[in-house]
Amino acid sequence: MTTLEENRGAADRPEGAVRTAAVHDAHGGPLVDLLVSGAETDAFRERAASLPAVRLSARSLSDLELLAAGGYSPLDGFMTEADYRAIVNDMHLASGVPWPMPITLAVADDEARSIAEGAEIALADDAGRVLAVMRVAQKFAYDKRLEAMEVYRTEDEAHPGVAAVYAQGEVLLGGPVRVLDLPVHDDFLPYRLTPAQTRAEFEKRGWRTVVGFQTRNPVHRAHEYIQKCALEIVDGLLLHPLVGETKSDDIPADVRMRCYEVLLENYYPLDRVLLSVNPAAMRYAGPREAIFHALVRKNYGCTHFIVGRDHAGVGSYYGTFDAQRIFEEFAPGELGITPLMFDHTFFCRRCDEMASVKTCPHEGDARVTLSGTQVREMLKGGVAPPIEFSRPEVARILIEAMQERVTPHHAI
Ligand SMILES: [Zn+2]
Repeated sequence: MTTLEENRGAADRPEGAVRTAAVHDAHGGPLVDLLVSGAETDAFRERAASLPAVRLSARSLSDLELLAAGGYSPLDGFMTEADYRAIVNDMHLASGVPWPMPITLAVADDEARSIAEGAEIALADDAGRVLAVMRVAQKFAYDKRLEAMEVYRTEDEAHPGVAAVYAQGEVLLGGPVRVLDLPVHDDFLPYRLTPAQTRAEFEKRGWRTVVGFQTRNPVHRAHEYIQKCALEIVDGLLLHPLVGETKSDDIPADVRMRCYEVLLENYYPLDRVLLSVNPAAMRYAGPREAIFHALVRKNYGCTHFIVGRDHAGVGSYYGTFDAQRIFEEFAPGELGITPLMFDHTFFCRRCDEMASVKTCPHEGDARVTLSGTQVREMLKGGVAPPIEFSRPEVARILIEAMQERVTPHHAI
């Protein structure tokens, strides 16, 4: 496994380079930090122990983690009604700052009835461990179908993001949060960097411009090509795979991370790349989630963000380029991060190199393309995709993982 130390490599900052990388503003102002520290810790902990506790879902735990360390700057808690409505209708907070995704805490009617507006509650994980204190500024009802339609562009409950909204409680609790402890993790520990930590790392390496890459899929050569094209025009690359909750048929995060580790070891200049994980859950909101992913990466210190085809999409709910076009709905400079748009990429045997539909004139068989289903079938059968499609080191890891999944382990 590549540790952060090995990953770091030698920064080749030119003498006298301007040290601005870590001082790019977070979204909407300074980087938010909700963690309780120092003298107030004991008092907070004592108070939290006496408060009624709301247990958070896996998604809300991810949100709490991102809120805590400023991944969701400028948010300082779960959304109140004015922000919620402004976002659903218009992709902006009530203050006018762009924000595309509701970050809400939903509870069932019964639970809501026992919580008064203005009261404090404790937020706990599923083991009952208290992680945070929230002042319930507001509790309010909301229209799930409206949220589905506006945010996800469909009311179809087969959409996993819409299904999650329909399954959650009927009342939203909004208000500021102070965090005592981050959710506990036992995986990817060397890669769990907070926004302050990635920013510090960029500064240490002298990177003034950094492109972020979001992924929830295993890495094939098309992704590698896009990442490297982007890296040609900036100082550094933040590979930021999402390891929060995903659909059960997505490739598990630990497998995806092993693919990245072997790829970095063999094919990337380590002083130009930082691999870290994003604790967020997938919402599969396509276009809106592309904006969301970009703003979160801005908070982690990125200046640029890669938006591919069908970014954060699922099924056929979104047009191929909807997630790119939505950036045009914001005024130039309003988002404060530059999207880098990419079209379909592949290896072309006639060009004899990686290319895209923008750069290769050859159609048909010259282009090595495979559908997701074709790749899955090959891997399940123990067959590596062509080396023009997947690096052999990556294919080996995926085949092993698929074999484990199709050959269930018997209990001893
Ligand atoms: Zn070609």
